[in-house]
Amino acid sequence: MTNPSLLILPGDGIGPEVMAEVRKIIDWYGAKRGLVFDVSEDLVGGSAYDVHGVPLSDATMEKAQQVDAVLLGAVGGPKYDALDFSVKPERGLLRLRKEMDLYANLRPAQCFDALADFSSLKKDVVAGLDIMIIRELTSGVYFGEPRGIFEEGNERVGINTQRYTESEIDRVARSAFEMARKRGNKVCSMEKANVMESGILWREVVQKVHDEDYPDVELSHMYADAGAMQLTRWPKQFDVIVTDNLFGDLLSDLAAMLTGSLGMLPSASLGAPMANGRPKALYEPVHGSAPDIAGQGKANPIACILSFAMALRYSFDQGAEADRLEKAVEAVLAKGLRTADLLGEEGVQPVSTGEMGDAIVAALDESL
Ligand code: NAD
Repeated sequence: MTNPSLLILPGDGIGPEVMAEVRKIIDWYGAKRGLVFDVSEDLVGGSAYDVHGVPLSDATMEKAQQVDAVLLGAVGGPKYDALDFSVKPERGLLRLRKEMDLYANLRPAQCFDALADFSSLKKDVVAGLDIMIIRELTSGVYFGEPRGIFEEGNERVGINTQRYTESEIDRVARSAFEMARKRGNKVCSMEKANVMESGILWREVVQKVHDEDYPDVELSHMYADAGAMQLTRWPKQFDVIVTDNLFGDLLSDLAAMLTGSLGMLPSASLGAPMANGRPKALYEPVHGSAPDIAGQGKANPIACILSFAMALRYSFDQGAEADRLEKAVEAVLAKGLRTADLLGEEGVQPVSTGEMGDAIVAALDESL
């Protein structure tokens, strides 16, 4: 049997710093769990532009299409701000998402007990929270036609079009049900079927996919505005939430911030299943390249490490090992280790990026 393959794209700024810590974790799995990955590494963003004159070369794009999963650090930085739009670092990331057709964006909101005080909500509302928002990423109002600013009579009108086909709803609904089966087996679908035809179709198709192929998963429907209220009132009622591009943009940011720092938030974008049954997949922290702290050993590597945990769970069917890694992160936080972004309590000295990575590796050792 061949080893699962992983393409690592560290990118710019703190990207390479946090990715170095993920490499320690990957090495640990190879040495201690016999879980060996074929890892290749390449350039994306500004670092690719510096070498190739483009933020993602065709050769790297081709590699990304071949591997079982891609893990990306972050792209961008002030050095590249003046570049033409077509070669800006972010275009490399957008090309990956578009050409891999990554239509399901997964944003977990998970609150480690040790960080519950960081939330703007009461501790008992968020402690132990573990939900997943799945946002449709390649269609909806951000892409629908007609769009533009037009003259109408003696004034201008701005137009965007919310548009979803049955197949676009069907495939993201399947991602949600598959995900739920690997988690708490519950899906809540959110739209505005009370005022939008696209919402009526959304609800119908999600229900049909459920009834035909996923009757074992508990399904509920909620209007997206009510969903926003429920997310802040009692977020622990949810397991997987599936919603469209626009509502997902808002709801995933809202849910993620229930849990505290940007340095803690992983994400994944999944596409259609490949020949081996695994979905095309790109895993990345939610944060950017943090030029203000790059090169200083201050970056929190946990978002990137938890992105790798998502890869273990959703690309490599290693749910138990993903649990092990998340528990190792939790154990390190419970011991009081904090990178600078997580400081709140007086008298706590921050640890460096490397020290945080080493502590998580040590906690993995202790888990054996
Ligand atoms: P950012 O996420 O890079 O940083 C925002 C703030 O959070 C900064 O103060 C930063 O120091 C802090 N921060 C972020 N990640 C951290 C971590 N892991 N540990 C500790 N602190 C962390 O967002 P920004 O400042 O708006 O953007 C900086 C650059 O990153 C820009 O060029 C932007 O275009 C790019 N960007 C890239 C991505 C991506 O690669 N997916 C996402 C967002 C922004």
